[in-house]
Amino acid sequence: VLYELQFTSAVEVLMSYWPHVKKAVGASEKIFEYVDRKPDIPPDGSLTPQSLKGHVQFKNITFAYPKRPDTDVLKNISLELKPGQMTALVGPSGSGKSTIVSLLERFYQPQNGEILLDQKPLLKYKDQYLHEKITVVSQEPVLFARSVRENIKYGKENASDEEMRAAAKLANADDFIASLPKGYDTDAGEKGGQVSGGQKQRIAIARALIQKPQILVLDDATSSLDTESEHRVHSALQKELKSCTVLLVSHRLSGVEKAHHIIFLREGQVAEEGTHEELVAKNGFYAEFVKQQNTSIHRNTEDVTNSGQ
Ligand code: ATP
Repeated sequence: VLYELQFTSAVEVLMSYWPHVKKAVGASEKIFEYVDRKPDIPPDGSLTPQSLKGHVQFKNITFAYPKRPDTDVLKNISLELKPGQMTALVGPSGSGKSTIVSLLERFYQPQNGEILLDQKPLLKYKDQYLHEKITVVSQEPVLFARSVRENIKYGKENASDEEMRAAAKLANADDFIASLPKGYDTDAGEKGGQVSGGQKQRIAIARALIQKPQILVLDDATSSLDTESEHRVHSALQKELKSCTVLLVSHRLSGVEKAHHIIFLREGQVAEEGTHEELVAKNGFYAEFVKQQNTSIHRNTEDVTNSGQ
């Protein structure tokens, strides 16, 4: 308990002093990665435009991690994330999906190329501004040992209960929260064990949505939800976040199919891009990914059926 309290307090102190660290709520180990990354963070920019469309462009980006300078992880990549659209990033493990998210969060600087936000270099924007406009929800979010209410409202200071419930509804979390022993006052802490992995992910999505980000990155953030629940979250997002730029990084096909645009990454390069239908018709890497996913879904269904006999 003491360790948990100390850890929670340390995280809170870090968060209040260092805006970058707030991003690390996604995964506790990332907090320590941030400490490693600090020297790579360039001086703060000054741009804080009143309105932001959220148009993102990676132009000829080549990137190698500082620890492995001879290995280009991204090789002359160009891609675009459009406002009001959900773009899905898929590809084999190690193809560079998370690296793209890290560059968008400005954790690292590419060695070549440029990242533009609304046609201006990402570097020119103020850190705190980007922090408010770009929200990343990761696969294993950390919930504080506080109530569900506090965990969701953490996304926005002075949020009302109405805003909190609206965000929870969008994240398909309101119903299960209402059925918890103390509803929104239930302790969501790790040790409480009251919320499952999928419920945790939905609370984290609600925490992100309450901020009304201009750019929302879901980095395998719905991986523990069943297909039906994931579908509801994605539909709600597409309906509500009409002007938001959504980047969906996913290992699964569900959700990806409905994206406006799909980018298939392979060995640090864009191998294919287009809509689900276009890419299936192309019969290339993405079509193979779809086949593999359908086979594994079919196999899992058979396993369940057989185990039930
Ligand atoms: P996954 O689907 O498994 O999450 P990914 O497509 O997100 O994979 P990345 O995590 O971006 O892939 O990794 C791309 C490459 O960069 C991999 O070869 C990986 O080993 C390497 N890599 C990732 N993080 C670091 C790091 N901090 N330092 C050095 N190399 C790294």
